[in-house]
Amino acid sequence: MDDVSPLAFNQRLLEFIDASPTPWHAVDNLVQALEGAGFQSIQATDTPAPGSAVYVRAAGAVVAAITPANAIAGWRLVGAHTDSPNLRFKPNALYLQDGYLMASVETYGGVLMNPWFDRELGLAGRAVVVDASGARVTRLFDSERAVAMVPSLAIHLDREANKERTVNAEQHLNLVLGQGDDVPTLTELLMPWGLEHGDRVLAADVCAYPVQPSDIIGLAGEWLLAPRLDNLLSCFAGLQALLTASETAGEVGMLLVCNDHEEIGSQSTVGADGPLLAKCLDHWGGDWERVVEDSMMVSADNAHGLHPNYIDKHSRNQQVVLNAGPVLKVNANQRYASEPETLACMVALGEALDIPLQQFANRADLGCGSTIGPITASKLGVRTLDIGAPTFAMHSTRETAGHRDPQWLAQLLCGFYRLHDLGQTDSV
Ligand SMILES: [Zn+2]
Repeated sequence: MDDVSPLAFNQRLLEFIDASPTPWHAVDNLVQALEGAGFQSIQATDTPAPGSAVYVRAAGAVVAAITPANAIAGWRLVGAHTDSPNLRFKPNALYLQDGYLMASVETYGGVLMNPWFDRELGLAGRAVVVDASGARVTRLFDSERAVAMVPSLAIHLDREANKERTVNAEQHLNLVLGQGDDVPTLTELLMPWGLEHGDRVLAADVCAYPVQPSDIIGLAGEWLLAPRLDNLLSCFAGLQALLTASETAGEVGMLLVCNDHEEIGSQSTVGADGPLLAKCLDHWGGDWERVVEDSMMVSADNAHGLHPNYIDKHSRNQQVVLNAGPVLKVNANQRYASEPETLACMVALGEALDIPLQQFANRADLGCGSTIGPITASKLGVRTLDIGAPTFAMHSTRETAGHRDPQWLAQLLCGFYRLHDLGQTDSV
């Protein structure tokens, strides 16, 4: 990781994002990378040998670890999330409207709705099918090309559009897929995109996603423009950190958890408020109750970079900017889980590794978003830090990150994994 340029690092990051239109695709790609590095698939309730490279996959979540070599060694935990706000088919979604084939959708998470209009949209997701042999299997599918859109209403039909237009999620976001007299079944619709001959769809998650490839932009290539940077950027940085750190594993356990459902509150079997991570820690080495004091969690999720057109949205001395380093996120009301001990640990680590860091708190008169950090901290009782790359346009169909920050974040997380004494940063 240290031996590649930021450009090479970012090209791989953007390839990962473009190949991961849904949380299930992201997990598929994370698992492929883990298997390529020798990680073995196990169950959360298995007990691997000390020092094993293992992972457990559960729908839109994955937990990967190098288990502790020593039963009393603590854990270095890094968490991120695989899901991003998007539009998803309702049941019985397909219908005809005046000769247009439409799909009714629900919004998933805190969607910024305006950017979904006039985009080239693909469809991807997972389908549970009964196959030709009668077995029930889950398949991933991806149209890999634009097959849908949500057209804007022309300004001539709404003269107040630039002042007063609001978007009604029920009425205005339904997808337009084609023209004709026929409504295909879900099996017919999804068949060319990843199903096998003889499959019949019993149930599916169908997500719309913008197909436009990610890009590197700016006069000097300063920025990455991509969908789902929140939070596939952090999943990728965490993965690179774990793979690099695992080459020189020490006594402590190193773990990466990528949860689904952060954008809708994390309460699910594979969300941070579910049982997955605690189950792994109970079985994967050491006595968690004993080692929790020597353990630490880093919750990696993007931060709000200062928007140059909306500088009043940030308060004094909180103007974090793109390409100035990962952001340590602080909230007095514990919407971010950072506390002085974990902040100090990371500040010292940044100094030791010569990686710039920024610190951020939200405006006091604005509600603060949250992350998996406070949820994991309260479930596991582990001291936690919230950190993330500064970005523009969080939850838009295209978000922006600085070209330097993702690799810095990965290098910092790698250094964190290698910390065998949380109080001694020079122990890296
Ligand atoms: Zn996020």
